[in-house]
Amino acid sequence: STTTTTTVPVVIIGAGQAGLSVAYHLKRFGLTAGRDFVVFDRGVEAGGAWQYRWESLRLGAAHRVNDLPGLSELGLSFETADRSRPARDVVTEYYRRFEEHFELNVVRPVAVDSVFNRRADLVVRTSSPAFGDRETLAGLLVNATGTWGAPFIPHYPGAASFTGRQLHTNGFVDAAEFAGQRVVVVGGGTSAIGFLLELDGVAASLTWASRRPVDWVHTEHLDLEGASAAVAMQDEAARAGRALPSIVSGTGVPVSRRIQAGIDRGLLVERPMFAAIEPTGVRWPNGTFTEADAIIWATGFRPELRHLAPLKLRDKAGGLVVGAGSSWTDPRIFLAGYGPQASTIGARRAGRVIARQVIALL
Ligand code: FAD
Repeated sequence: STTTTTTVPVVIIGAGQAGLSVAYHLKRFGLTAGRDFVVFDRGVEAGGAWQYRWESLRLGAAHRVNDLPGLSELGLSFETADRSRPARDVVTEYYRRFEEHFELNVVRPVAVDSVFNRRADLVVRTSSPAFGDRETLAGLLVNATGTWGAPFIPHYPGAASFTGRQLHTNGFVDAAEFAGQRVVVVGGGTSAIGFLLELDGVAASLTWASRRPVDWVHTEHLDLEGASAAVAMQDEAARAGRALPSIVSGTGVPVSRRIQAGIDRGLLVERPMFAAIEPTGVRWPNGTFTEADAIIWATGFRPELRHLAPLKLRDKAGGLVVGAGSSWTDPRIFLAGYGPQASTIGARRAGRVIARQVIALL
């Protein structure tokens, strides 16, 4: 075969907040990027999944974006970043400068297609338009692949018959695409609310459906660190190997001034879910019908773990058994940014916790 094989002690998959935080701490512990560990990322640019977010999304629109560890060394902080610029541009720029400053040598674009066992090694199989197909043999693996690549859309009868456009949060580009259209937005989180606010006055009509009543919280910012109950729920599920609950189900949605204005003018009033989808719209449980040209599913994400399937880490309970970022099924595997760590503050903390465990095993 023409597959190139190399060996490296530690492979990190993903250069988002979680993967970069781990890499930063491994460096601080004296490891060298490229020799002792390698970071693969599928994206063409720095920024993790932020590089794919829609242009109109601004920093601080929903949650706080925590700094990477060591970012202040570069004189940078998201706290003081320019909020008039698209979040994706700011994050991409800051992460790029961070990677350069700490010489993390992220290898991109490289997609990890699968990870499997071959004798004592973990084999990381990758493909890349730049580097071709490769195999990397690793002793330890840090999976930091986030959720962006695993959109979740709940099943509703008739979905396949809909003749309009259906898209998920990860396919949203610009409100202008929906000019003059009748749009149904599904979801009870900050993405759904953000879309409704942007589409107001652009779409011909807007209908909002949520699977559960929105739990409004009257604070300006959702502090994921303060939302310890939601994080504890995630942690409990991860340790029990269950599928992860939605974060919003634990934190509620903070009511900013912009959101309050939307509630006051009757825009942000959700309906309980429709019962079925028909070719030209949605049918409600009481039999009434709403015509729609587009359905936007702002229904969240799941951890992206497809490439780990050959390792058979999934528990009977439906999830992975993970505590403090470490797989309890296979001690060579770490999951950075998974479950309770799936926020920029959680991912930042994960870096230190996981790097310390990695160093102990090397
Ligand atoms: P990501 O940033 O998703 O990074 C994962 C990286 O892994 C990506 O670069 C991806 O390309 C790469 N990757 C994935 N699979 C593979 C593979 N098989 N091979 C190679 N590379 C791969 N959190 C906050 O704290 N504050 C916020 O304001 C906030 N806003 C958000 C807004 C939206 C719309 C969404 C969807 C999420 C938001 N979050 C926010 C949550 C946020 O995603 C996380 O906090 C954090 O950015 C995730 O970091 P990460 O490193 O785990 O994942």
